[in-house]
Amino acid sequence: MTQLITPQPGIMDITLYQGGKSAIAGRTDVLKLSSNENPLGPVPAAIEAVAAAAADMHRYPSTDHAGLRTAIGEVWGVDPARVICGVGSDEVLQFVTQAFAGPGDEIIHTAHGFSLYPVLINMAGATAVCVPERERVVDVDAILGAVTDATRIVLLTNPGNPTGTILPDADLERLVDGLPERIVLVIDAAYTEYAAGYDGGARFAETRPNVLMTRTFSKIYGLGGLRIGWGYGPQWMIDVMTRIRQPFNLSTVQLAAAEAAVRDTAWVEDCVALNEAQRGRLIGALGQLGVAVDPSQTNFVLARFADGAEAQSAEAALLDEGILVRAAGGYGFPEALRITVGDAAQTGRVIDTLTEWRARA
Ligand SMILES: *Cc1c(COP(=O)(O)O)cnc(C)c1O
Repeated sequence: MTQLITPQPGIMDITLYQGGKSAIAGRTDVLKLSSNENPLGPVPAAIEAVAAAAADMHRYPSTDHAGLRTAIGEVWGVDPARVICGVGSDEVLQFVTQAFAGPGDEIIHTAHGFSLYPVLINMAGATAVCVPERERVVDVDAILGAVTDATRIVLLTNPGNPTGTILPDADLERLVDGLPERIVLVIDAAYTEYAAGYDGGARFAETRPNVLMTRTFSKIYGLGGLRIGWGYGPQWMIDVMTRIRQPFNLSTVQLAAAEAAVRDTAWVEDCVALNEAQRGRLIGALGQLGVAVDPSQTNFVLARFADGAEAQSAEAALLDEGILVRAAGGYGFPEALRITVGDAAQTGRVIDTLTEWRARA
């Protein structure tokens, strides 16, 4: 049969997103360090809230998310009226690409930015413009140099994934100042909590007419499976995006969990402390083994081996011990593995495995 119906522009150019592996055939002791999940699991307050909310599942959820937006406003010091909540920050990123770009428009992202961006750009039918980074750090001049009359959006992952690096504050400011105000700058700040002294770009989202910050409950709150994120930006931009947000995009259960989670500030402090200690330990041990690692502002490290073959050999050794990490070839780093920082025991397991692997080589 001839197919007479053609999908919208861009859709057939989409390469399906690859998630981190989560299972190894025949093994029950798998340690999953491939998706930057919280080693402590979900924030306990959210587990309780989900259980309580289950009894109300026959009710439609709030469409304005007022309870959650108020909680976010109180805890993070932002104006609740300028917060938009989505099914993960992924959905907020989709709102912004769909609302502000289409066929003929360009969206700039950087070489090692979040791998979901090309999917979202194609979904909007827009054209992706990928600019290089410099030594695994975002290059502000490369971004500014790529701006054309067709540029509508810049998607910036800060801190970066899979690099783990952060754009120094002065450079971020230079980017914000250098971009014409007709271009939306999205600061995808999924790892903000792990980056000491960083506000996720909130101060720019607060004061500039064209800056949106996106945040997530998937990382430090351990709620990746529940799918909740939020964005903060100028009122006009939030109002535009709200028009294309489905009225019931977040369930009663998601809203209850997120509201309880955000109020548990002690949890965030505990997780940050654990991550800092184990991240330092892991980077130190990798250095001892001759594996290069940049300072990380996230809950993962990008371990750079001598070449692709050595990275594959290390990945195989980890796999033999039931440890899943993320090969970074798809992100443009064939010589690297992205390893999520675990708790003390998990980090010990990674270090021991790689130490034995090195000794055998
Ligand atoms: C994990 C991650 C997110 C979070 O996505 P959710 O949809 O909120 O789960 C966003 N951006 C980057 C760069 C990430 O690594």
